[in-house]
Amino acid sequence: MGRFAVALLHHPVLDKKGDIYTTSITNLDVHDIARSGRTYGVASFYVVTPITAQRDMANDILRFWEDGKGAARNKDRTEALSRAVVVQAFTEAIALETALLGEKPLIVSTSAKPEGTVPWKQARARCEAAPGVLLLFGTGHGLHHSVHDAADMIIAPICPNRDYNHLSVRSAAAIALDRLLGNPEE
Ligand code: SAM
Repeated sequence: MGRFAVALLHHPVLDKKGDIYTTSITNLDVHDIARSGRTYGVASFYVVTPITAQRDMANDILRFWEDGKGAARNKDRTEALSRAVVVQAFTEAIALETALLGEKPLIVSTSAKPEGTVPWKQARARCEAAPGVLLLFGTGHGLHHSVHDAADMIIAPICPNRDYNHLSVRSAAAIALDRLLGNPEE
């Protein structure tokens, strides 16, 4: 597997009516996905929001853990959050990854809905063959279709055929990273 990055999108996502929406950053999402990402060797974790005040808040949180009181309190958390980058749009994350890779990464989106998705085994093979991957997670009621349209593939839902399928993005991210980057022999 080449360079692997993750993005958590707070826009454009869907509201409960299926309209385009912008969610607020949840501190727990940032911490948990940063920790899962670091565990699986994710190179960068992009926190995406178009709201300036939200970016400022997220950067304050990261500064606290990187060189503030947090760094003295928990070095492991500092290490996890050191790979987090706050950006205005997921296209900025694509541009940053493209600049680091020297070519565009494979853009992979995720959804709890099965329409138009690629099975995990096939998705993992495509990720392993790519020079780099940017895996996109949503918030709210899921990623807006414009994100799926911009992706090279949408990975199949985790547990698609259950009577209840409402994973938090934190749980979905951890499961997805294990399926794509984990070693089943471990
Ligand atoms: N109903 C929404 C959907 O279809 O994605 C669930 C939104 S969930 C609160 C937020 C994000 O978690 C989704 O955008 C997706 O990235 C991820 N997610 C949640 N459930 C998932 C599942 N079963 N399979 C894959 N990703 C999932």
